[in-house]
Amino acid sequence: MTEQAPPAGPPDLAPPDAGAAEHGRTPQDGRTGAVRASAPRASRRRSAGPADDASSADVVIVGAGPAGSAVAYYLATAGLDVLMLEKTTFPREKVCGDGLTPRAVKALTAMGVPLADSDGWTRHKGLRIIGGGGRIELDWPELSSYPGYGLVRARTDFDQILARHAQKAGARLIEGAAVTDPLLDGRTDRITGVVTKDGRQFRGRLVVAADGNSSRLSVAMGLHKRDDRPLGVAVRTYYTSPRHDDDYLEAWLDLWDGKSLLPGYGWIFGMGDGTSNVGVGLLNTSSGFGEIDYRQLLRRWLAGMPAEWGFTEENRTQPIRGAALPMGFNRTPHYTRGLLLVGDAGGMVNPFNGEGIAYALESGEIAARVITQALARTTAGSRERVLQTYPRQLKDAYGGYYTLGRIFVQLIGKPGFMKFATKHGIKRPAIMRFSMKLRGNLTETHGGDAVDRLLNAVSKMTPAA
Ligand SMILES: Cc1cc2nc3c(=O)[nH]c(=O)nc-3n(C[C@H](O)[C@H](O)[C@H](O)COP(=O)(O)OP(=O)(O)OC[C@H]3O[C@@H](n4cnc5c(N)ncnc54)[C@H](O)[C@@H]3O)c2cc1C
Repeated sequence: MTEQAPPAGPPDLAPPDAGAAEHGRTPQDGRTGAVRASAPRASRRRSAGPADDASSADVVIVGAGPAGSAVAYYLATAGLDVLMLEKTTFPREKVCGDGLTPRAVKALTAMGVPLADSDGWTRHKGLRIIGGGGRIELDWPELSSYPGYGLVRARTDFDQILARHAQKAGARLIEGAAVTDPLLDGRTDRITGVVTKDGRQFRGRLVVAADGNSSRLSVAMGLHKRDDRPLGVAVRTYYTSPRHDDDYLEAWLDLWDGKSLLPGYGWIFGMGDGTSNVGVGLLNTSSGFGEIDYRQLLRRWLAGMPAEWGFTEENRTQPIRGAALPMGFNRTPHYTRGLLLVGDAGGMVNPFNGEGIAYALESGEIAARVITQALARTTAGSRERVLQTYPRQLKDAYGGYYTLGRIFVQLIGKPGFMKFATKHGIKRPAIMRFSMKLRGNLTETHGGDAVDRLLNAVSKMTPAA
């Protein structure tokens, strides 16, 4: 089934109030630098806090990736004064597969992001899975809870679109602002703001760490990665290819290291612009994790592809770049002393499939809901009680599912299991449809078919650890 496209409109990547934007001036002292700050829509402000000058806000958000822009959008829409600090300047590259599942499409739709084909989005119908000597094409499930299609969009565009969308809702954004340290209240040890590399200070009643996998801000607040949670590593690049307009995302389960089948997959995602995003991702449950040469693995895998697909060095349009995928809540607690963690900063990538954008957007929405309620309270104690619910709300949303994901990751780390499951699963469409729903976290929220009810019940019964 094809979904109704939202109304078309030209893509608008200019910052709102571009004319009024400060170019090359810092908010505090007017020094020059690679800074661009655009003004908020004053009418939307409902500030009860220190938002009386350009360097303070109700909420300071560090990082303008999908998670940061989602929090900013929702908070600004609720009338709060929001300041996003982003170390790069848009448009900028982000290493990613660029694939958006129906879960991500739903989150984008909720934010009112225009998603028409004419806005430059490329749609796909589902997943093609290849492995164990077989292949199967599966359409995304027909559900009332999620749309029946996914999208692809290069992160160079995607992140800029979301940041501009948050700005249009009233959030301020300063690009070229690399946060290095928290500002702490000496008496309570709570975070009261942040300092940037060039010495500027920004203050907020609350601070959100949306600074991705490394989350320097979380580390500075004493929140380190957990070793007992799964981690993925993935590399990707782009090739000019006739497969650029494939209707399906393609996943290859046969990634070999000598005689060992590796826990992970290779992907080919058509970008719709003449190129394909091609990459490989592995989990840290493989015995050789850390020693594997990922670029070589990618090249070896591609060497077996038909020549006419064009995945050759001459057709490569970008360097091969890699990054980590922090999974299954690999940094906790998600709230401490005035700081909330969203997206990759809080390790929210789905361990079943390596998808992180939907969870960045969703955790951004949950954080914004909590912050909006907390800042409306009149006493510090009452505010704190609301803020303390954030980790609980995340656990309610994903905790049981991520626990299952950790078990899954352990299982597929055993080469024998991975081989058995791929060989026998690929020939059985019912098992593969079950697996698609499980790994994509795509079940009806309420009711649904027997598979939906089973998966929801198991997720709910599994303890969130
Ligand atoms: C190779 C690869 C392929 C992937 N493929 C997919 C895919 O196809 N689909 C999918 O859903 N997910 C995919 N992921 C995961 C996805 O990229 C992440 O989960 C997602 O980007 C998380 O969003 P985020 O906003 O939390 O963090 P990020 O996207 O990392 O954004 C963090 C932002 O913070 C900024 N920042 C960092 N430090 C600072 C600082 N000190 N001060 C100010 N700003 C700072 C960064 O510049 C960046 O803009 C992939 C990941 C990798 C590595």
